Amino acid sequence: MATEERSRKELTLESIVEGKKLEAYVEHRTRDMHACAICGGIGYKKRPMRCVGGRWFCMDCVRQLKDLMEGLDRWEAEAKLEHELSKKMDEGLGL
Ligand SMILES: [Zn+2]
Repeated sequence: MATEERSRKELTLESIVEGKKLEAYVEHRTRDMHACAICGGIGYKKRPMRCVGGRWFCMDCVRQLKDLMEGLDRWEAEAKLEHELSKKMDEGLGL
């Protein structure tokens, strides 16, 4: 019983030490890491980051932005059409 308790304590201490080591490692690593301004994800080797205007963006978000930009013309046209429609409706209602 006593031995079991001691080994459990040692295990806890060990996991604390491991945790501290990890913390120190993460802290050391974060110096050359950047958080994505959109998703908050941390950049690393498998997730390249791009710095735009002092902000960092991960590749996943940039890819999504690219899709967004590609659909921008249509989006703009739709928004314009919607705006014109609502204007016409307002005019039709005599507002
Ligand atoms: Zn991101």
